[in-house]
Amino acid sequence: MGLNKNVVEKIRKVVPYVPGEQPQNTVIKLNTNENPYPPAPGVQKALREFEAHRLKLYPDPSASLLRDSLAEYYKVGPEQVFVGVGSDDVLSLCFLTFFNSEKPVLFPDITYSFYKVWAQLYRIPYECPMLDDNFCIRREDYYKENGGIIFPNPNAPTAVYEDLDFVEDILRHNQDVVVIVDEAYIDFAGRSAVELLDRYPNLLVVQTFSKARSMAGMRIGYAIGSPELIQYLNDVKYSFNSYTMNLPSIVCGVEAVKDKAYFEDTVRTIIETREWAKIELKRLGFSFPDAQANFIFAAHPQYEGKALFEALKQEQIYVRHWDGRRIGQYLRITVGTREEMKELFGTLKRYMHK
Ligand SMILES: *Cc1c(COP(=O)(O)O)cnc(C)c1O
Repeated sequence: MGLNKNVVEKIRKVVPYVPGEQPQNTVIKLNTNENPYPPAPGVQKALREFEAHRLKLYPDPSASLLRDSLAEYYKVGPEQVFVGVGSDDVLSLCFLTFFNSEKPVLFPDITYSFYKVWAQLYRIPYECPMLDDNFCIRREDYYKENGGIIFPNPNAPTAVYEDLDFVEDILRHNQDVVVIVDEAYIDFAGRSAVELLDRYPNLLVVQTFSKARSMAGMRIGYAIGSPELIQYLNDVKYSFNSYTMNLPSIVCGVEAVKDKAYFEDTVRTIIETREWAKIELKRLGFSFPDAQANFIFAAHPQYEGKALFEALKQEQIYVRHWDGRRIGQYLRITVGTREEMKELFGTLKRYMHK
């Protein structure tokens, strides 16, 4: 027997976020912006040496070891850092905590599609100003009254990075709301908005270990902001679940932060591969906004995005494609290793008979 309609009527209904496919045995996976390189060697060592008896106790609810190492890394106070289970967890809590107004929250029409899902889940009104024809955010769209602002920088899936003057301009025009900059890809781009924190107590910067730090499977994200904002975030978190981050994640996260040289090295390698991949894509006739992340959002004038996506998938190469008027022609291609990218280009060339 099914639920009767009176029961169904009382249930919260949502349209969930659809993550990219996670095939567990693909040849080449360039569809969810993971890092092709392993985490820092210290992470492997910490996992190998982790003693299971430590799991019998609850973990530290504030993940203070990891919080403090991030504070030191970014030269801010520990009371300015909040650690969560992936930045999706952090961002979701941010929506719940900071976007509590009748006025609409603003984020771009083409952006991380989870924002819309959280807004709907928490019943937050929102508006989505259109990116311009070059897929850039139009700053004037964010000068109007609103209930808060969030955008990724670089933006996803476009990979377009806006410099700090742009971010500061948005902040200057929005001192009465919380402005969240989702910097999931900042390490592949340029200067972080962390530099602006001293002047804008309403700014929150969110980052993750999933992309540049090669730890998507560990689930670590964090927010950096004024002690006041972080306090509000903690109040909501502790009204929800105190022990969100497990002990192995805390231990491994600290190890990853320690190894700055390894981190910078892998990021540099990915940037080099990206710059080479841009040249190859242009040679094949693709066009794309200048990519400053670990992915490229590219379209071909002669081939449908969907057709290319399917053709690559046939060959066990996964990239990301969305339907939609403005983006249906595009593929979002994660920058993998040089070998993986060579396979991709080889397959594209065969498909296009080039
Ligand atoms: C990948 C991504 C995230 C989420 O990353 P987590 O794995 O949850 O830390 C958040 N924002 C954007 C824009 C992303 O691309």
